Amino acid sequence: MATFKDLGLPNFLIETLDVLGYESPTRVQSAAIPEALLGKDILGVSQTGTGKTAAFLLPIITNLHKGRTRARMPRGLVLCPTRELAAQVMENFTTYSEKTKLSSALLIGGVSFKDQDKKLDRGVDVIIATPGRLLDHFSRGKLVMTGIEILAIDEADRMLDMGFIPDVTKILEKIPHARQKILFSATIGEEIEILTKKFLRNAHRIEISRSATVTKNVDQSLVFIDKLVNKKVNKSYFLVDYILKEKELTNAIIFCNRKKDVTQLTNIIKNKNYKAGEIHGDLNQEARTDVVKKFKNGDIKFLIASDVAARGLDITNVSHVINFDVPTNPEDYVHRIGRTGRAGKKGIAITLAQKADGPMIDNIQTLINEKINVTTFLLPSSNLVSKNNSTELNKLSKIPHDSEKPFLPDFLFTSFES
Ligand code: AMP
Repeated sequence: MATFKDLGLPNFLIETLDVLGYESPTRVQSAAIPEALLGKDILGVSQTGTGKTAAFLLPIITNLHKGRTRARMPRGLVLCPTRELAAQVMENFTTYSEKTKLSSALLIGGVSFKDQDKKLDRGVDVIIATPGRLLDHFSRGKLVMTGIEILAIDEADRMLDMGFIPDVTKILEKIPHARQKILFSATIGEEIEILTKKFLRNAHRIEISRSATVTKNVDQSLVFIDKLVNKKVNKSYFLVDYILKEKELTNAIIFCNRKKDVTQLTNIIKNKNYKAGEIHGDLNQEARTDVVKKFKNGDIKFLIASDVAARGLDITNVSHVINFDVPTNPEDYVHRIGRTGRAGKKGIAITLAQKADGPMIDNIQTLINEKINVTTFLLPSSNLVSKNNSTELNKLSKIPHDSEKPFLPDFLFTSFES
């Protein structure tokens, strides 16, 4: 197996990685770094959890650490689709570049321009930005992009989903064609292909299949809850009972498809005396950063999230990801469950599903090229949910409960008989 030294990285970076406990390069790092160090353009097809961030940051640091900073003329640029991902990449950059004099700025929306302006005026080597905010600074005359020597675009497919490709194109047009570009995307559709053909120079293509990446540490399961859901017993009852009964759960990120459900579910969980917080696109940056910090510190046990948080959150100790809803976009499933099982740890991902979700589950299984286990441990014996028990079920909504006791009566948790 290759070592970081074999990849051609300088000694100061090898020492930094050693301190971080990175024993050997991941597959995407082994494939991308030597080529990127030669100045080649890279097109990487690889998901979160594969070590792709270091695959573009380590070459950026290596290629730029000797040069000089100039006011308003960054030499390196990383574009990310979300503020969270950009902040995370910045955190990694700061860690990896510890032994260098490289300066950096995080240019994301939702925070004031003032501090960002100050940094740009002073001069920064590397900018990590979301496309909209970067263009805002550009149009205000705060930076020029002709000095950029190396550009990385992270999660290009997500840029596409979020409607950022026109902004990314505008940025690419401002950077001289001969400069080095690295683009990572979980999938390459037609539009990303067009973009790469136009702007990348004979790119070295790397494809790291998902199967050997994030999920090998993640135990995935699907729970079909149709039989118990009716007007009185809804999904949140299952969730609350599950988090109470699941012994291995130390903390969890719970994903909902809609923002309003995020808020509603957060309130339900808080009402059961659990420490919980919410994160979604309607919150300002300060609130988002604050809730992520609390979750990282263990001040809250549950982070209820929309897909805005599915990418970029790098928290090493998340025991569970719970999909309260099956994501409509199969890539989101991969990103959601990639929040657990990080850095070699084991993770559990459970998805609450109903029959109507069938086509979406098929799409997910096609994308990940595997079948997700259907688990029944949450489900009642089928005869208990037959008509004669419907009165029992209807009573459930009236059962008073607190976080000490299981919410659903135990008869509902005997083994499933098909
Ligand atoms: P990423 O795919 O960039 O989101 O990285 C996933 C996680 O793996 C992050 O927590 C990184 O810090 C960690 N990581 C990246 N490269 C390595 C490596 N070579 N050895 C161990 N951990 C790594």
